[in-house]
Amino acid sequence: MSKDCNTAPSVEGMPVASDTLRTMRDAARAGYPIPAHLVGEWFRALRDQLFADQRPVRLEQNDPGSPYWIQIDERQWHHALRRRINVRALYLHPLPGERRRQNHKWSPDRTHCTACNDPFEWAEPYCVPPQPPEPMSTKPQPFNPRWVLPILDRLELAMRRESKQEREKWNRETNLIRRSIEENTREAQP
Ligand SMILES: [Zn+2]
Repeated sequence: MSKDCNTAPSVEGMPVASDTLRTMRDAARAGYPIPAHLVGEWFRALRDQLFADQRPVRLEQNDPGSPYWIQIDERQWHHALRRRINVRALYLHPLPGERRRQNHKWSPDRTHCTACNDPFEWAEPYCVPPQPPEPMSTKPQPFNPRWVLPILDRLELAMRRESKQEREKWNRETNLIRRSIEENTREAQP
């Protein structure tokens, strides 16, 4: 399929639930007594295979009328569910120890990580808090507020043709801007 297959964790050799069930079926067919430690092993295997924490390695949606399933991210997944679009998820069993490696700092109600904001159920294996954005270097803009003055002059001229109410409103605005320009350019001068 696509290159995404390469990014999925390898589960080669990992037993899945059906492997354990097949072993149990074969043992029952053989008819011998089963040692307790083997029953305990089956129990642990099934418990881990069926009830351990699992998260999907791939999410897909099928748009109405489209024959294709396309890969989506978690945000799109929730969006698609709300819009009742068909979705499907591929689950692989968690690799041994994967949960132990998690170093998230769960919120008291265990809904999300307080460091990286990952939701509890969908958290990445490792906590990677977002880095604060690099401050953008601001270059002083070559702009002189006085360049606006001729525009204000022209606006005032044009306003003479407008109603008294409009004229007063725009005169108030232009006067404010003129005063602001005056103050700014005065401060800017050494
Ligand atoms: Zn985290």
